[in-house]
Amino acid sequence: MVARSCETNLYEQLPGSRVRCDVCQWHCNIGPGELGVCRTRQNTDGALFSLNYGIASSIAVDPIEKKPLFHFFPASRVFSVGGWGCNFRCLHCQNWQISCTAPPEAGKSGFISPEMVIDLAEQEDCQGIAWTYNEPSTWFEFTLDSARMAKENGMYTAYVTNGYLTPEALDMIGPYLDAWRVDIKGFTDELYKDLSGLAHWRGILDTTSRARNKWNMHVEVITNIIPTLNDTEDQFRGIAGWIRDYLGELTPWHVTRAYPQYRLKHLPPTPLSSIAKAVDAGLAENLRFVYTGNIPIPAGKDASLCKEDTHCYSCGSVAIRRTGYQTRITGLRGSNCTSCGTHLNFRTAETLAAEC
Ligand code: SF4
Repeated sequence: MVARSCETNLYEQLPGSRVRCDVCQWHCNIGPGELGVCRTRQNTDGALFSLNYGIASSIAVDPIEKKPLFHFFPASRVFSVGGWGCNFRCLHCQNWQISCTAPPEAGKSGFISPEMVIDLAEQEDCQGIAWTYNEPSTWFEFTLDSARMAKENGMYTAYVTNGYLTPEALDMIGPYLDAWRVDIKGFTDELYKDLSGLAHWRGILDTTSRARNKWNMHVEVITNIIPTLNDTEDQFRGIAGWIRDYLGELTPWHVTRAYPQYRLKHLPPTPLSSIAKAVDAGLAENLRFVYTGNIPIPAGKDASLCKEDTHCYSCGSVAIRRTGYQTRITGLRGSNCTSCGTHLNFRTAETLAAEC
């Protein structure tokens, strides 16, 4: 069985037994006995150790649409694995119980090896693995080993991430990742500083562009819209325009309603008018696939805001119908509309095989 604490593979030794971690863009400079920002890596006698290899907080079988990934192996079952800790401190964190705490001591939380991940995924008839629920880079070594093993066993792989990985870390795991589902929370320095405590956020854009353009990952972007923080036209147009220019107009953008919690409990749920404004901004920037999420079952005049189906942007035919997590493929062949043949940017077993 693999040890729960292992020496990490991306760090530099510095004078005075200090180390510099190169997994994420904090590049923590860590003194002897100290932890990095994520509280999952510790300097022990001048070497950097991951404290949470294989220590899982959550395991579940999900529809891939729950990540959300709408254009990636639609209607498939994905084996979802989450760990502990995060390198961000977002005021609105939805998983703060597992993200804002250090990993539990050995023996006090479930251990899972990469081999067990693959075995369980196969037993559950899953087509792929997703590292999700908390930021996957906090247990980077574990995700790397299990992604490599998943690819050897013919499964797809997906990172659900805040995008703050370094280019070096991305290049290490890039050969084994098929999908990059990334949060882009806003488009200004002020927003990222206020919401996530981050001074230098633009590296998220660089890493995401690298995932798409160097590693050919399928990318989908999500923005959770929080009242009074990131709900302005400028933020929406900034994100949508960047997606169009650097990822392509066929990249799905999910704009989701927030039900504020953790340190933002005083805020109301996102007004539906803000969701409508984000959708309009995405379409005005020529994005072809803007989806909404966390909207109640449509009723009356709000029905038009529940945008979960995929329509061909050329002929208007419905390619996929989604109701909750029920997905019905009605007009898709490979990645193309069955009615008019237009390419709709889907990644499926068929399209992956064609690329190999
Ligand atoms: S992964 Fe953790 S220790 Fe490493 S740079 Fe990021 S926050 Fe710091």
